[in-house]
Amino acid sequence: MALIVHKYGGTSMGSVERIQNVAKRVAKWMRAGHQVVVVPSAMSGETNRLLGLAKEINSQANPRELDQIASTGEQVSSGLLALALLKEGVDAISYAGWQVTIHTDSAFTKARIMGIDDQKILADLNAGRAVVVTGFQGVDPQGNITTLGRGGSDTSAVAMAAALKADECLIYTDVDGVYTTDPRVCEDARRLDRITFEEMLEMASLGSKVLQIRSVEFAGKYKVKTRVLSSLTDPLMPLDQEMKSGTLITFEEDSTMEAAVISGIAFARDEAKITVLGVPDRPGIAYQILGPVADANIDVDVIIQNQSVDGITDFTFTVPRADYQKAMDLLKNKVQSHIQAKEITGDPKVSKVSVVGVGMRSHVGVASKMFRTLSEEGINILMISTSEIKISVVLDEKYLELAVRALHKAFELDQQ
Ligand code: ADP
Ligand code: ASP
Ligand code: MG
Repeated sequence: MALIVHKYGGTSMGSVERIQNVAKRVAKWMRAGHQVVVVPSAMSGETNRLLGLAKEINSQANPRELDQIASTGEQVSSGLLALALLKEGVDAISYAGWQVTIHTDSAFTKARIMGIDDQKILADLNAGRAVVVTGFQGVDPQGNITTLGRGGSDTSAVAMAAALKADECLIYTDVDGVYTTDPRVCEDARRLDRITFEEMLEMASLGSKVLQIRSVEFAGKYKVKTRVLSSLTDPLMPLDQEMKSGTLITFEEDSTMEAAVISGIAFARDEAKITVLGVPDRPGIAYQILGPVADANIDVDVIIQNQSVDGITDFTFTVPRADYQKAMDLLKNKVQSHIQAKEITGDPKVSKVSVVGVGMRSHVGVASKMFRTLSEEGINILMISTSEIKISVVLDEKYLELAVRALHKAFELDQQ
């Protein structure tokens, strides 16, 4: 008998029929003698619908109220799944995050999980119940409902698996594993049987939304055995087959792994670029520009500071597109005059494409191949950033798909 956490995403929970299929699958695992905790997302489109309603009332809605609203999608899907399980003849109970308790900090709309109480869940499991726990949400020390950022149910599931010391966390989704790049953008994308934790962390942090980055961080920190697999297969498929399907995240590079230099291409479509022109090049200037941005809870990504000329320099960085206006307003109203910057300009329509692979450590020429491929397609690179196992470029949004496909081909990711 094993303790398994299942996570089902929006598409997997997208209709009554799909929820019934999830119940059939969970029932199959229970009948095989396993203990199962299920973490569902809201039904597909529901979180967008709820946030859309809020934005209609106030485009600058209060984040606490946004969480109050957005968290309800998961409460509905959890209750529906518990009902479907009961109908399948499985004893089941659903809980919202605050009932478990899933403790988070108070960073509304992007809260972090601080701890999960396991007593209630363990008692239910030991009584033979399937336990359904809402994804995406928790409760802060003051009792406010919080959400974990878009795609946060992945993190709820892996954190739950870590807290319960589960044997495995299965992330059921609408694709049958982690691919060399988003299969919806590149039809030659190939499914990976395994991916190293480090590569998955990079892919997720660079925009591959198949797993939320924080879920991968949890998996790494607590060594949670995590597998990404399809929820759209026959729910009654043989268990031994299902247990081997999808993509396993591994914690060491073993000899059976593909010895590829590049394992995948990730991209983040909705980025924006901001340039602060004509600032004095003196100690503390980066802090004076980026400090207030960070204090406003805006993630800054690629950063470039130009060579200074006559003691004056330019400073460029990217932020998520959703935070572009907020960052621009902040810089223009609160920072510009303070640091005596000449001008602040921006481009809200840029994207970032990255090639990722641990093999890059021991291979030269990856960057030049990437730049050559983009130049052959006539794509202008706006910014470049590198680490040991990834190279990212920022480019005009309109070239995103072209860049992904060209790089996928150039690095022969379509071939085994
Ligand atoms: P869920 O609702 O199950 O959480 P998501 O939409 O959040 O599903 O994530 C799954 C989607 O991630 C896929 O439909 C696919 O379009 C996208 N995706 C992006 N990059 C990858 C990748 N490298 N491999 C697989 N899927 C990817
Ligand atoms: N329902 C939430 C979202 O749409 C969480 C998730 O799907 O993981 O972002
Ligand atoms: Mg998701």
